[in-house]
Amino acid sequence: MKNIVAIVGRPNVGKSTLFNQIAKKRVSIVDDMPGVTRDRIYTDAVWLNHEFTLIDTGGIELETEDKILNNIRVQAKIAMEEADVIIFLVDGRAGITNADEDIAKILRHTKKPVIIAANKIDNLQLEMNVYEFYNLGFGEVVGISASNALNLGDLLDAVVENFPENVEENFDEDEIKIAVIGRP
Ligand code: GDP
Ligand code: MG
Repeated sequence: MKNIVAIVGRPNVGKSTLFNQIAKKRVSIVDDMPGVTRDRIYTDAVWLNHEFTLIDTGGIELETEDKILNNIRVQAKIAMEEADVIIFLVDGRAGITNADEDIAKILRHTKKPVIIAANKIDNLQLEMNVYEFYNLGFGEVVGISASNALNLGDLLDAVVENFPENVEENFDEDEIKIAVIGRP
């Protein structure tokens, strides 16, 4: 079974753009308007020699009344169930919004690795925008520009490092391993 990587984030942060860049083909619809129907949400992708399946959870349309908020909550939950690694995408230009906080609250309940990436960091001047997102509590924030394909390598490195088979049990050098041997 291939590892599954899910992109989660509120509308308009650039999930589809990132998905397309990683897939290297324009398969899902990118639009300024949140809520546009997106068809393609799965793709096979490869980084270094790791093959994985990428999901754009923003493309999962749900027939609910309380549209956007409900959608992103359900999308986050689907990601938590299905994915091996979750990319939590935020908008590095907009700063933290209530919807980001909402998603963060849900993602804190998962034991799966969550990599937080701040998108739309299109140039060096914007790089300091990433610091605010440390407040969401998911550790290192990777600044990327999906539309300019900047720093996607760092993001994908972090993703594949967190695939279950690459996460080693980290024994401390000075940790003492004890084997208890004897008759029952
Ligand atoms: P989604 O709703 O999360 O899937 O977001 P989209 O991928 O549809 O992108 C929303 C808007 O953000 C579009 O107008 C994109 O062109 C724009 N966008 C995406 N990535 C970047 C980026 O790296 N930099 C900038 N400046 N805009 C971006
Ligand atoms: Mg989208």
